[in-house]
Amino acid sequence: MLHVHEGQCGLCAHFGEHDFNHENRLVQIRTSKEAPEQLIEECGHPRHASLHLVVTPISGCDGFEPAPNAQVH
Ligand code: SF4
Repeated sequence: MLHVHEGQCGLCAHFGEHDFNHENRLVQIRTSKEAPEQLIEECGHPRHASLHLVVTPISGCDGFEPAPNAQVH
């Protein structure tokens, strides 16, 4: 498992944003701040969506927006 930090894709609102089948898994990552090492998701940020950018939970960019259901510790 990878530990996901604030500012990284795994805790970003755009990570897998349009893949509703993965929603439970994404919420789990936001809650536990842990993600499977092989996981990749499409980034739904408007500036990346047309490029179909695919990222890992520990990737990141300046477009980071905290996911609304990420727990703050
Ligand atoms: S690439 Fe940027 S906008 Fe997309 S999920 Fe990662 S941090 Fe969020």
